[in-house]
Amino acid sequence: MEEVPDVDFKQIWSSLAPSNVKSFVWRLMLNRVQTKTNLRRRHVIRDDQSLACSFCQLQDETSDHLFCTCAFSMAIWRMVLGWFGVSIALPSLVKALFVQFPVFGRCSSKREALVTVWMATCWSLWLMRNRVIFDNGELDAGLVLDLIQVRSWHWIKAKRVNFQNSFYEWKLSPLACLDSL
Ligand SMILES: [Zn+2]
Repeated sequence: MEEVPDVDFKQIWSSLAPSNVKSFVWRLMLNRVQTKTNLRRRHVIRDDQSLACSFCQLQDETSDHLFCTCAFSMAIWRMVLGWFGVSIALPSLVKALFVQFPVFGRCSSKREALVTVWMATCWSLWLMRNRVIFDNGELDAGLVLDLIQVRSWHWIKAKRVNFQNSFYEWKLSPLACLDSL
């Protein structure tokens, strides 16, 4: 069993994401997001209803599966990491991913932006999951990556005046853009 790391909740609140996303990630860290497994626990989903993951339909939809070990989500994390030109072994716990993701940011302002990208990734996965369930949306990894890039760019730009890169520059070389922070 992988060890569950301690999450520094201050990193969530000091990130550059909007407050509704901060509160979503905070609930995710406490395993209080309304995944099917959590809805079953609260008797919102009945015993005869499926708990199958909204992305792959192969395993129960827990937080760790939906945001971490599902093949669809893993592909998204690899795309996000590839966008930054790094590759790390993906852990199987969402908390471990939160702790490990921003390590390639060398200073605290860079890490703060990387935590923001991390939050944009989880938020975009969650919205895609809801689109699949409620709007019969099709899974589209390319669209999710686009939205992660757009959201993180908007969020960082809104809160950091010295971040003046265009969206095109952000999409092309995000680490270089973070040098201005
Ligand atoms: Zn899955």
